Amino acid sequence: MIYDVVIIGGGPGGYTAALYCVRAGLSALLLEKLSPGGQMAVTSVIDNYPGFENGIDGFDLGQKMKACADRFGAKTLLAQVFSVDLKSDIKKIESSEGVFEAKTVVIATGASPRKLGLKEEDSLAGRGIAYCATCDGMFFKNKTVAVIGGGNSAVEDALYLSNICKKVYLIHRRNELRAASVYGSALEKAERIEIVWNAVVKKVLHENVVTGITVEDTVSGKLSDIACDGVFVAVGRIPNTELVKDVLKTDASGYIIADETTRTDIPGVFAVGDVRTKPLRQIVNACADGACASKFIEEYIRTGNI
Ligand code: NAP
Repeated sequence: MIYDVVIIGGGPGGYTAALYCVRAGLSALLLEKLSPGGQMAVTSVIDNYPGFENGIDGFDLGQKMKACADRFGAKTLLAQVFSVDLKSDIKKIESSEGVFEAKTVVIATGASPRKLGLKEEDSLAGRGIAYCATCDGMFFKNKTVAVIGGGNSAVEDALYLSNICKKVYLIHRRNELRAASVYGSALEKAERIEIVWNAVVKKVLHENVVTGITVEDTVSGKLSDIACDGVFVAVGRIPNTELVKDVLKTDASGYIIADETTRTDIPGVFAVGDVRTKPLRQIVNACADGACASKFIEEYIRTGNI
């Protein structure tokens, strides 16, 4: 069978594309390697997706988005995609569940945590270094942790961990947070959080497991040690473009170049959600991308491109 569309990635962008495509009468296969929801599946409470006045658990929202697409006939397979051939009219997607053919492809692979780039980072992952507070926070109950970063993720992680841990250091390389001001009052009230300004992590101290970090004061150049049991790295994300980075045009940070139409530089290939160039990466505009993609997929097929 040749699908009208194969969607790679089951986050909000991918599932909205699936929902809109099947409702428009197109056949859609969605390939997801882990579980529906993407990044939001590892977010405990989502308060800024409209329609849930008490917030919603990210995993539940992922399941609901899948159910919406399922209802109209979208097919999901849990599969890892190994390679894609996007240049032919009929696109080929090679995966752990077989090879699939499609008239159009949606890249909805999202983004992953950026690493600090420290020598000991990989070997200590799972032994004190973590990238997801909601996944690993409970391992540090009543312990001391450091959260690295100054964006929304770092502040959300620090606030989340302050309800579990004895003490949370928020280590930021500047003297001003990048995070939205809406978090200000919550941070002020969080007695267990101490913000360490102008500090760059130079080393993770360890004796098999993490015992602390060495930070450098960016103003004085002074080095100091902070004792902690865990380090949560929240310094932004990098796009998951391994499959397509030599094929599709990307910007300097590696995001697939696509505008509001979600069209990429290859006809019949679309990029939605966090993986594409955009000024703000949120669930709500990932969903908007999915809806937009369906309009241009439908137009691409209808106007005889294929
Ligand atoms: P981000 O906004 O890019 O922030 C990354 C933070 O890490 C910045 O404070 C940056 O410092 C710092 N940083 C980057 N590289 C570093 C390094 N090597 N060492 C130390 N610090 C480093 O990333 P994010 O917080 O993951 O958020 C990503 C996107 O998701 C954003 O658009 C954000 O608004 C969105 N988001 C939204 C929500 C929400 O609305 N609920 C929650 C989470 C994320 P500088 O500030 O000095 O550059």
